[in-house]
Amino acid sequence: MKYKDYFIRNEREQKFAEMADQLAVNFAKRAHIHDEEGSFPFENFEDMKEAGYLKTTVPKEYSGDGASLYEMVLMQERIAKGDGSTALGVGWHVGMMLSLRESREWPEELFKDFCKKVVEDGEMINSFASERATGSPARGGRPQTTAEKTEDGWVISGRKTFSTLSPILNYFTVSAGIKDENKIGRFLVQKSENVKIEETWNTMSMRATGSHDVILDNVFVPDSALIEVEVPGEKTHHQSDSGWMLHIPACYIGIAHAARDFAVNFALNYRPNSLPGPIAEVDHIQQKIGKIEAELKTARMFLYSVADRWDKNPEERLGLKSELGLAKYVATNSALSIVDQAMRIVGGGSLSRKLPLERMYRDVRAGLHNPPMDDVVLKGLATAAFWAKN
Ligand SMILES: Cc1cc2nc3c(=O)[nH]c(=O)nc-3n(C[C@H](O)[C@H](O)[C@H](O)COP(=O)(O)OP(=O)(O)OC[C@H]3O[C@@H](n4cnc5c(N)ncnc54)[C@H](O)[C@@H]3O)c2cc1C
Repeated sequence: MKYKDYFIRNEREQKFAEMADQLAVNFAKRAHIHDEEGSFPFENFEDMKEAGYLKTTVPKEYSGDGASLYEMVLMQERIAKGDGSTALGVGWHVGMMLSLRESREWPEELFKDFCKKVVEDGEMINSFASERATGSPARGGRPQTTAEKTEDGWVISGRKTFSTLSPILNYFTVSAGIKDENKIGRFLVQKSENVKIEETWNTMSMRATGSHDVILDNVFVPDSALIEVEVPGEKTHHQSDSGWMLHIPACYIGIAHAARDFAVNFALNYRPNSLPGPIAEVDHIQQKIGKIEAELKTARMFLYSVADRWDKNPEERLGLKSELGLAKYVATNSALSIVDQAMRIVGGGSLSRKLPLERMYRDVRAGLHNPPMDDVVLKGLATAAFWAKN
């Protein structure tokens, strides 16, 4: 369905949007196969590599496009309209590259070298921080994965859960408790024979993200691979903000947007013989479409305006934490409601595995379990309401 997207403001954004739209067409054709099989969509990532998508957020000085947060959100939403799993997977990569570009928290040589790998070889990155005992890393628990100092580097052992993109990554970062110290290190790890993937990912949602367990068995990394050391409770030297994590709401609102398009199209074309015209003319269908539009427009407006503020006001970024969290809260909860409404419009047929809606319904559910979690966002807002100076 062709429509004018008012969030596209100039020619550069139009080009980025077109690239993502073109990729999403093929992703949508393959999505049901990978969902059914729980297989990893390697061909989607090959397409993105070919199209130059993987380097969009790499800095211009290292041969990327230097895409802004707004531009990243614009592209990610579109990729998710084709396939949510692919969008969430590639979102971690493009988001992390954007975050590293802005924070420069890696030593510059290491970052430059990795950018080259992204641009020339299509390498990608993600952060593996979740574990069974600690749950969400955002809660601040000490990782059970440990790093032990050796003469010229570190030896890391442990198991990471929810490791999205694990089937395709050659590089990832891991968090690890530093042996016998109250410190947590973050390391860049290259895949080797001491890194094993246990194919544990068999979930109802986001089945094609390859978010398996990754087991590190005495993995050696050189000293230069230690990116950051954090003492629990103390601020880190490089305090990067969470702007890049807007790839998460962009993903879930993109899935919901696709469900909305499907329902609108269905309503315009379905003509049961009990009615003189299509169900789009029936009042209760119009009410449901109206509710979808209200939620989708509100969520998108908020998401894009926060991304734009983040881009335009670098000095304000750390202060945007509650807005960034709220954008995720609004998008993921609206996405759940929008897909639900879309299925009510389509009726019993929406349950069929032949239609994409039941997959979208399952996929948006995963948004609740990506950071920041709802309770954290709401608590932050309450804290600000009670104690922030006006
Ligand atoms: C599709 C998908 C992709 C993902 N990809 C990645 C990835 O690439 N890398 C990665 O590292 N992680 C990834 N994750 C993991 C994610 O970041 C979370 O770690 C994971 O979903 C578990 O979060 P949780 O809140 O359910 O778990 P838990 O932290 O185990 O929480 C379980 C329950 O206990 C409550 N709880 C636990 N601790 C506290 C606390 N301190 N205070 C209050 N309540 C608490 C929670 O609210 C929840 O109700 C992914 C998750 C999903 C769903």
